[in-house]
Amino acid sequence: MRKNLVVAIDGYSSCGKSTLAKALAKTLGFIYIDSGAMYRAVTLYFIRHHIDMTDPMAVKDGLQHIELNFHSRDYESHITLNGEEVSEEIRQMPVSQNVSEVSAHKFVRTEMVKQQQRMGKSKNIVMDGRDIGTTVFPDATVKFFMTADPKVRAERRFKELQSKGDTSTSLEEVFENLAHRDYADTTRVESPLVRAEDAIILDNTDITPEEQLAFALDKVNAHVPA
Ligand code: C5P
Repeated sequence: MRKNLVVAIDGYSSCGKSTLAKALAKTLGFIYIDSGAMYRAVTLYFIRHHIDMTDPMAVKDGLQHIELNFHSRDYESHITLNGEEVSEEIRQMPVSQNVSEVSAHKFVRTEMVKQQQRMGKSKNIVMDGRDIGTTVFPDATVKFFMTADPKVRAERRFKELQSKGDTSTSLEEVFENLAHRDYADTTRVESPLVRAEDAIILDNTDITPEEQLAFALDKVNAHVPA
């Protein structure tokens, strides 16, 4: 039985996992870890170094030159790739377009999962991703599985990209990227995105971030031993 508390949040692309994870971490005083940022940072390294992402051996070798670290500031999760802060760059479309191919590699997953499990060994954490409740922490204190209407998700991500100055990506491109990632993430061989049997489903199509936080806090409090 683990002594520290782990909140696992999985779900489809852009359905507000990180918004909920950050809000929960802030309210509960837990550490927030964005596991997707790790797969994104690995992808950025491969793009920058022209590593052939279809070649498992090139991927395995490339991984050995990557060091990832998280720094928590104001409950935002900042990631460094070999010492360089890349939190903004990993959200751009070139990374989004390649990350699901990279995250499907067995070598990549084995290494990321090892690092994630280390981070959740002794501290109270909220971690979001695709396989947190199934593979990384099957014994998590409480698990959520998030979903939302694909059109609503695309609009939210589109607005986010625009607010960050990306005016070259259309809503259709965002929609297609989300559909592509959902398909790749749910059909890959290595720990595909699937709801853990004991995960609580949270569909936030028609609810506000405040309502989803209240819902999730209720569930977490019900699971925390007195
Ligand atoms: O969460 P985010 O959308 O930033 O994740 C980017 C991609 O990283 C996902 O589409 C998925 O391919 C991969 N990922 C994963 N397992 C995780 C987190 C993310 O495969 N735990």
